[in-house]
Amino acid sequence: MDFIIPEYVNKILKALMLAGYDAYLVGGAVRDLLLEKEPEDFDIVTNAKPQEIVAVAKQAGFGVVEELGQNFGVVMVVVDDNSVEIAAYRSESYGEDAHRPESVWYCETLAEDLARRDFTINAIALDSEGRVIDYFNGLEDLKNRELRTVGEASQRFAEDALRMFRACRFISQLGVTCDAEVFAAITEQLPRVSGLSMERVRTEINKLMKGEFVNLGLDALVRSGLAAQLCRNRQKGKEIQIPILPELSALVGVPQNPNFHSYDVWNHTLKAVSLGENSLEVRWALLLHDIGKGQPSVRGFDDEGNPTDYGHEELSARMAEKILKRFQFSANFVKRVVWLIANHMQLGFRVGKDELGTRRWLRKAALSGAFRWNSDMQEAFAQLSSVCLADLAATNAHEQEIITMRMYNEELLRLAADMPVHTSDLLLSGKQIAEIIGGKESLPQLMQILLKRVQDGTVENSEEALTEAVKKWQQRHLQYETSAIDEM
Ligand code: ATP
Ligand code: MG
Repeated sequence: MDFIIPEYVNKILKALMLAGYDAYLVGGAVRDLLLEKEPEDFDIVTNAKPQEIVAVAKQAGFGVVEELGQNFGVVMVVVDDNSVEIAAYRSESYGEDAHRPESVWYCETLAEDLARRDFTINAIALDSEGRVIDYFNGLEDLKNRELRTVGEASQRFAEDALRMFRACRFISQLGVTCDAEVFAAITEQLPRVSGLSMERVRTEINKLMKGEFVNLGLDALVRSGLAAQLCRNRQKGKEIQIPILPELSALVGVPQNPNFHSYDVWNHTLKAVSLGENSLEVRWALLLHDIGKGQPSVRGFDDEGNPTDYGHEELSARMAEKILKRFQFSANFVKRVVWLIANHMQLGFRVGKDELGTRRWLRKAALSGAFRWNSDMQEAFAQLSSVCLADLAATNAHEQEIITMRMYNEELLRLAADMPVHTSDLLLSGKQIAEIIGGKESLPQLMQILLKRVQDGTVENSEEALTEAVKKWQQRHLQYETSAIDEM
């Protein structure tokens, strides 16, 4: 198999070898090259020590970012505008901390360096000639899509609890499966999770959320018990424990009305997430869209005794807000995801109804303060369209219902594009208006009037129609002023 190692990476490998050192590409880049995927980043290891790496890099004319103290044995070099981490071979031993090693030391061989790596598929090395060095059977595991730890799973998870979240992340990104030993080891080491920081857990979960096999990764997160654990967080200078995602675990086995659903709430959620557009907003919205289902305040039963969850969208939105805030997502992210969840039942209600109702709804949304300008609102409605289609497709809806909703959504997005949110969305600028009325004095007030009229649908959002409206306003204004002067 030929590997496409970028030229800038090869330059580094060759420079180190020319200086008499060993140099290998390792980690995620090798795994991804073997899977014919584009690597995220390239990591190189060598038997050269940091000072020697710096000397080679300078000799070869590479840029050197010297942060030797910060990251043990790692030198960051910049070649042809690309940065690459070069690490000296090292070994580690672990102690109390749930993630960080207690001590780290340089070692002499590639084998020792590879032995500290988490999974066999991440412990393969590649040299500049494209030769694969595989001490732990990683190639075979990669071929069979199996995730196995280097060494005994329980011990490796006890050393660093983040590896358990990395396992779920790799399941999601690569579609690998874990054998029973790995799952049993996770169960055994669950107590170690409480020592992990929220930020590290969030990073892994976000990577998981964007995986091609996101349903498998999420299912592993919940069924392994990891979602139900607590992790560490600093709030107002104090260390506290916060729950990870126990709300998801609560969805497993919660029954739904069989007239609409063939799955329980958890399996419906998994299916919906994997059918949604691959953005963090849409996927988090789908993950949490039914989080309130089954809660005593919404769970009821219809005349036939089938479960109902009227009002679950508002409860889910409130619960989602709490969850996303405890993970310290940005205010804009929380606002968007909560909005998507609160509105996820809307499209289903509105399909097939008249256009006027949709326009009114859009006007209300434009005035609600949820969006800054039209582009913001258009993006939100496009995401809502993806959320609702995925939600519907994850039920036992007929193909025709999905087609009808898709058609309605196209219409909705067309109408949303025409609904201004802010005066800057008007197709006549403040400058143009000031020129027509001969000054800026009444400009803010006039623009608000125009915005309201376009939102009401009484004036079209076009340069001609707005120019016309401005001229009429000016005429009325002049008439008013003249009659006011006459009366004096
Ligand atoms: P990606 O870069 O696609 O997120 P990756 O596998 O490259 O995935 P990195 O965090 O970049 O992950 O780490 C690079 C390599 O370092 C890994 O492939 C693995 O060999 C090793 N590694 C990273 N984190 C750990 C860990 N917690 N325990 C053991 N080895 C690790
Ligand atoms: Mg990487």
